[in-house]
Amino acid sequence: MPKERYNPYDNFLGVMDHAANIMGMKPDDYVTLRYPERELKVSLPVRMDDGSIKVFEGYRVQHSTLLGPGKGGIRYHEHIDIDDVKALAGMMTFKCAVVGIPYGGAKGGVAVDPKTLSCGELERLTRRYTAAILPIIGPQKDVPAPDVGTNAQIMDWIMDTYSMNMGYPVHGVVTGKSIEVGGSLGRKEATGRGITIIALQLLAKLDKPPKGIKIAVQGMGNVGSVSAQLLSDAGALITAVSDVSGGVYSPSGLDVAAITAFLDGGKRRLSEYNAQNVTHITNEELLSSDCELLIPAALEHQITEHNAKHIRAKIIVEGANGPTTEEADAILKARGITVVPDILANAGGVTVSYCEWVQNIQSVLWDIDNVNDFLAKIMKKAFGEVYAAAAQYDCTLRNAAYIVALKRVSTAHKLRGIFP
Ligand code: NDP
Repeated sequence: MPKERYNPYDNFLGVMDHAANIMGMKPDDYVTLRYPERELKVSLPVRMDDGSIKVFEGYRVQHSTLLGPGKGGIRYHEHIDIDDVKALAGMMTFKCAVVGIPYGGAKGGVAVDPKTLSCGELERLTRRYTAAILPIIGPQKDVPAPDVGTNAQIMDWIMDTYSMNMGYPVHGVVTGKSIEVGGSLGRKEATGRGITIIALQLLAKLDKPPKGIKIAVQGMGNVGSVSAQLLSDAGALITAVSDVSGGVYSPSGLDVAAITAFLDGGKRRLSEYNAQNVTHITNEELLSSDCELLIPAALEHQITEHNAKHIRAKIIVEGANGPTTEEADAILKARGITVVPDILANAGGVTVSYCEWVQNIQSVLWDIDNVNDFLAKIMKKAFGEVYAAAAQYDCTLRNAAYIVALKRVSTAHKLRGIFP
């Protein structure tokens, strides 16, 4: 990835400026949002299984707490750096605002490939990271969640470490936990379910029934696999999916359930998957494959000025955070491709994280219907508001989503004022 040229935080600022320009917002009304409120960098010494000591670098960035406690995932990825975390934290501010839930934006990360660690090493790293960021997190301060490379088990260790330090159980310090230790029903599937709701809402607006529509999904992790399954259940043909090893393609539709079972939660790679009428393709080929709807659900910076002109889909629903660069966005717009932006499309995860947090801090339990109904209501309302703003300002759905969010955050800022 050419990091020397592409800075994700600059990309985030560019998108925000663009939206502010369209709505004629004065720079003073949102200048605060150009600067994260707090950036913490920590060194994490971990004793490895062979007795040696390795020091990892970790981060937690709180972009804004104007609308509520910081909220955002923790990513374990070998290439993560402070600019990635700042950009992802900023997007969280806008994501929570666009769906109207009372959270600010934050994000964390550790530069590590978790697949290279033993379970014991992963636990020691997670507990040390939690201890290092402990002064700035908490149910009323900043509430982490899973992201790429982290999962419910890692959230459980974070909850336990925080609780041991406080001296009592604090379930609401983190979301995305296992159900048995305060997780919410429906949280694991929430991001993919939200993407499915948004994709179906858009298809309905465009008067396209989902049955038989060809969909390609990049990334078969938590977000991609659930999106692919639910859209397949809705009658769509999932023609291509991928993981880090590459993709598989079938013009007559893949068996998503069989592929998910084969991958076994990331234990196997798609490069080893074989089935009738299935061919192997690269991730680049997946992006430009013959489909009507494309869901990038892997990492950021996938659709760039180099490949945007090759994309054949007419609709892109962004499952990943930041998969499309600003330059690519302009090309897609010129080509008449509709893009549902990340901050709207993948907001289902944080929405059900909110359900989990509400259950934790109130010590109540919601059943699955309650969670899924809440998710559907929030996603449909947000989609309607963004769609209407796109018509009002004659702009893309990305611009519109940022406009809706920017209005909410800047209004809160005006009402709260500047301390002291
Ligand atoms: P996972 O770690 O569960 O899955 C990531 C998937 O992407 C895996 O299939 C992985 O393959 C694949 N992948 C990794 N690197 C590449 C690459 N270079 N090219 C192609 N595929 C790649 O992550 P999630 O599903 O949780 O997250 C995916 C995206 O969605 C991220 O951008 C995340 O920020 C965003 N998101 C996640 C939310 C959540 O609730 N989890 C909420 C909102 C957004 P392999 O397994 O082989 O490594």
